[in-house]
Amino acid sequence: MKDLLRKIRKTGRVAEDPPERPAESAPDALRELGGSVQLRHVDAGSCNGCEVEIASVFGPVYDAERYGARLVASPRHADALVVTGPVTRNMEMALRRTYEAVPAPKGVIALGDCARNCGVFAGAYGVVGAVRDVVPVDVEVPGCPPEPEAIVAALRGLTGR
Ligand code: SF4
Repeated sequence: MKDLLRKIRKTGRVAEDPPERPAESAPDALRELGGSVQLRHVDAGSCNGCEVEIASVFGPVYDAERYGARLVASPRHADALVVTGPVTRNMEMALRRTYEAVPAPKGVIALGDCARNCGVFAGAYGVVGAVRDVVPVDVEVPGCPPEPEAIVAALRGLTGR
């Protein structure tokens, strides 16, 4: 135990220094949530590249929770959805139902090029469309996949922190 504590003291802080606070960009409907936004992630057909970046955003290096953004397990506990991937036929109804389960006021973040415009999967037989074709989208984060810094900036725009 002593060795562990010594190592923790020696290692010090590993999280990235917080970047400049971005301008607040929360849609009007979400402004009253300022400071704390609970997010439910929905993979609507992603290749999992975006998920790797989301995992890194909530890991110890980028630590998005320090800005008031938190992933939750149920849409009923969420303020907003983070949707990745193009919407596939098998996930269309699930995405609609998940959106309906989020209490108002609520928002949707379309994360990654596939979520924004189907990306490399545009025209694929199993794809229904982009996220905005199925549920209303408030914030878009471009990139394939988006860099963690861009995801953190978008989340900070929502929380205002
Ligand atoms: S945007 Fe890129 S990384 Fe994200 S799901 Fe699409 S192909 Fe994968």
